[in-house]
Amino acid sequence: MSDRDGLIWYDGKMVPWRDATTHVLTHTLHYGMGVFEGVRAYETPKGTAIFRLQEHTNRLFDSAKIMNMQIPFTKDEINEAQRAAVAENGLASAYLRPMVFFGSEGMGLRATGLKVHVIVAAWHWGAYMGEEALKTGIKVRTSSFTRHHVNISMTRAKANGHYINSMLALQEAISGGADEALLLDPEGYVAEGSGENIFIVKDGVIYTPEVTACLNGITRNTILTLANELGLKLVEKRITRDEVYIADEAFFTGTAAEVTPIRELDGRVIGAGQRGPITEKLQSRYFDLVSGRTEDHAQWRTLVK
Ligand code: PMP
Repeated sequence: MSDRDGLIWYDGKMVPWRDATTHVLTHTLHYGMGVFEGVRAYETPKGTAIFRLQEHTNRLFDSAKIMNMQIPFTKDEINEAQRAAVAENGLASAYLRPMVFFGSEGMGLRATGLKVHVIVAAWHWGAYMGEEALKTGIKVRTSSFTRHHVNISMTRAKANGHYINSMLALQEAISGGADEALLLDPEGYVAEGSGENIFIVKDGVIYTPEVTACLNGITRNTILTLANELGLKLVEKRITRDEVYIADEAFFTGTAAEVTPIRELDGRVIGAGQRGPITEKLQSRYFDLVSGRTEDHAQWRTLVK
């Protein structure tokens, strides 16, 4: 990943990809206190556009505030950095990774005077779980790892250290023959995937967990909006794992995962074991929106140049 051509925005300057390095005593590398975003840019008829750029930047700043990190740039500057990272790498579509991290001015938890750095990298990244997964759906396993409690490391921030928990869950799921993990909250209710929010459909109604143990997903919010526009009933509530077993449809949402159908959970086939009709409708609307095949929500697509 580090050995390639291209440019990375690093603290206000574009630097060659291979030179975008940092010291081994970088504080964030040791303790995981950092925040980041995952953003996508799509090809649209008007040119390459970043989907929901402002919302991602807002969440990055919220995450930093929660973690007491002062980003030394304005939101506009971070938006511009993301546009430049896509444009200057000549990418038609891209995954973007803005990240905020502490420097190497001190070691130990009591370190003070740590500099806050920001990078934005962008590269081409196709379907997160493969094109086939978007059509046929994936196999999911309930994790033995619990999702973060609101009062342990909190859940509103997209923080680097949170992804230890995601990786443990994902590794366990994959080694057990599944494609993704479903994590439960500390009380045992459905929270989210290792990097996705979850939705189920039962008797024509869509359900998703309230934002407590799960990340406040931007794709989740897009789906809420689309469901409403399509006249579909959507309820945010606590969900149990057995409700997922007996759902008619289930799907994950995320910037990377987009809208990925779930065909199986813990060996139980969900509904007809394939992408359900409501999932398909929302997925197709989602792809129309991100790729500008509709004029709707034009403010959600920021052209990179
Ligand atoms: N939950 C977790 C744990 C995630 O990492 C992500 C990806 N950022 C999501 C949910 C989905 O969030 P979004 O739709 O904003 O990408």
